Amino acid sequence: MPDITGHISFPRLCQRPIPVFPMPFGGVNDSMSEVRDTEMVSPHLARCEELWYLDGSIVLAAEGVAFKVYRMLLAQHSSVFADMLAISHPDANVDPLYDCPLVHMPDSAEDLRCLLLAIHDINSGERLDNAPFAEAAAVASLAAKYDIPRLRDRALQRFDSWFPGSLHKWNVRPTLAPTDYVKALRIARQLQRSCTLPLIMLALCDRGLDAILSAGLEPNDLRIALHGFVTLQGLQRTHPFRWIYRVSAACASVRECGEQKARLSRTIEEAFIKIDKLCLFEHGFSRAALEHVGLCLGCIDDAMITDKTGRQRAWEEVPAAFNGLT
Ligand SMILES: [Zn+2]
Repeated sequence: MPDITGHISFPRLCQRPIPVFPMPFGGVNDSMSEVRDTEMVSPHLARCEELWYLDGSIVLAAEGVAFKVYRMLLAQHSSVFADMLAISHPDANVDPLYDCPLVHMPDSAEDLRCLLLAIHDINSGERLDNAPFAEAAAVASLAAKYDIPRLRDRALQRFDSWFPGSLHKWNVRPTLAPTDYVKALRIARQLQRSCTLPLIMLALCDRGLDAILSAGLEPNDLRIALHGFVTLQGLQRTHPFRWIYRVSAACASVRECGEQKARLSRTIEEAFIKIDKLCLFEHGFSRAALEHVGLCLGCIDDAMITDKTGRQRAWEEVPAAFNGLT
């Protein structure tokens, strides 16, 4: 086995298609029951240069892509792989082309690539902490499927950074492409993380109607997302911006402040429609901005307090806004 500390530099091999030789290796575990009969697969595989160890001891193939990796490393990480490999002697069923067994996997080639990179990287934790969304999602999903708790939990930790469960982290989260939200919903459901589902919907709704409509949601999820979007727009008026629509008990100049608030409310309503996004959990007007507008001190204090408490109260109502998600 070569030194696999850090990011090993793998030999650059040509990516020509290579023929497949049958290797009966299926039906050893429920999770591996989808391992395909080699007679049914494409007669050609392309090797993944990133994951092609010349002295690897097993070749995994998915969607026409082959990965030559270490069977013992797979077994050490995964009880599912361990069970699968335990019944086969390393010297048995050796494919003559690869000089090791060839196993066809039921997963997507890209997802399997992400999982194998994590398994073969001694700095897998650091790798996952900085992984793009697709990689974190793939590792979380397949690590759960193949029972690799350490990688599953680390990948989920990264996954959660896109959907933080606290208000103070919400505005510093990374952004996603609209179609990533469908994948996020699938992962959360696969891993039974029901508390994350409304946060995924909220993150999508934060992007606005165009993002919701282009995300590719299933019909029921689309209905819930649109209903939630409208509900959250209403919460903007009744919670953080409520001070605009009422007279403060501490107001020192009701008529003048009322006129300014009327102007501010028109600006807010136009912004709600024009920017097509939620303003629920972003920072509202600053004290300096309201002083510039000309509100009295009592109204400004009311605005500051209502903004802060209103956003927290709205945050607590997010799960109810997406009621029906399962
Ligand atoms: Zn006032």
